[in-house]
Amino acid sequence: MAEIQLHNTLTGKIEKFVPQRAGEVRMYTCGPTVYDYAHIGNYRTFVFQDILRRFLKLRGFKLTHVMNLTDVDDRIIANAAAAGKSIREYTEKFAQAFFDDCKTLSIETPEHWIRATDHIEEMVKLIQRLQEKSFTYPGEGSIYYRIAKFPNYGKLSKIDLTGIQPGARVDNDRYEKESARDFALWKAPKPGEHFWETAIGRGRPGWHIECSAMAMKYLGETLDIHTGGIDLAFPHHENEIAQSEGATGKPFVRYWLHAEHLLVEGEKMSKSLGNFFTLRDLFAKGYKPSALRSALASVPYRKQLNFTFDGLQQAASSVERLRNFADRLKRGKFPAGKQEGMAARIAKAVLEFLVAFDKVFAVVEDNDGEKLRALGYGSTENGPDDAEVDRLVAERNAAKKSRDFATADRIRKELANRGIMIEDAKDGSVRWKRK
Ligand SMILES: [Zn+2]
Repeated sequence: MAEIQLHNTLTGKIEKFVPQRAGEVRMYTCGPTVYDYAHIGNYRTFVFQDILRRFLKLRGFKLTHVMNLTDVDDRIIANAAAAGKSIREYTEKFAQAFFDDCKTLSIETPEHWIRATDHIEEMVKLIQRLQEKSFTYPGEGSIYYRIAKFPNYGKLSKIDLTGIQPGARVDNDRYEKESARDFALWKAPKPGEHFWETAIGRGRPGWHIECSAMAMKYLGETLDIHTGGIDLAFPHHENEIAQSEGATGKPFVRYWLHAEHLLVEGEKMSKSLGNFFTLRDLFAKGYKPSALRSALASVPYRKQLNFTFDGLQQAASSVERLRNFADRLKRGKFPAGKQEGMAARIAKAVLEFLVAFDKVFAVVEDNDGEKLRALGYGSTENGPDDAEVDRLVAERNAAKKSRDFATADRIRKELANRGIMIEDAKDGSVRWKRK
């Protein structure tokens, strides 16, 4: 079988993929910060990593894949306090929404879906290891990472640190910072804020230490693959490297894969421009999950994806064509006089290909209706089951045969109202499918 090649952000090259242990892949994906609903830009990255994981599985690898939920940060603490809720109560709704959204987009559940707040102890231990090796310094109850102690800082993002003041401290772990500076590993609580009582003092973890500690707990000190959005390469992933390699002295990740940004109609997505969409915004407009998954996967992951409603419509049509094609192969009758045996064999081979294709792309299987109903969109009626549809189709056929076209038409309309489309083929056979 052809070798697998992956583009590695660390080397800037396309490299042959060789995992540490033959037949096994240990992979980490930075998950969402659950302070709100994730948007379609986030899901572009999650669909990309899902296609990667499905592809690796199809090629026979055993996967251990970890995705985290960041359920503690400045915004979560502030929003939870404002809502008078605990952190877990506040984030639970958005964590659940994320799980539901992933299911709806056919994003497979990783082997470990984990929360930052369940791993405070591991983070504290990792900070202690860094303390022992003098990678840290304290300041007003917080603990900072000393970047000057890690000469390889910048090797992933190729960031130029010239002119940046070493030792400058920033009491902020959100990643929209403009320059590389020492960053907080542990943050002292402000008055009234939630904190953990730990061996390194009261406080809470910085964002970057979460991923280092959790990735190494489940995957070992060296990972095969780490994925994320390109906006995470600096400083988040750079800081993950500095923390992990500072503590262990070993390479943290062998292959870094980053997905590019998503634009909406050519512009950066923002709430103020009115072009900011969550999955649910699009489902409410009547778009299907399969169309969205197909649109998000329509451009290679290292290229910017310009998301447009035209493109979404085209993706919906492509999915429909694929499904109709698969359906015809399954149910099709071949005209008399043709090489029926040969045609059937070809149909079987093409169907096998479509099944393999769908193991990775997951759009051919027609389950949009039930997914949307599970989220509360679309018709709440579950529609007739297969046996009832078959019975009604048979009744309609009988009516047509006896030239009772009024009855035949009434049954067709009734089925249409209940979400079933009937197609009469030229050879007299009848196919039906759910809308
Ligand atoms: Zn991360």
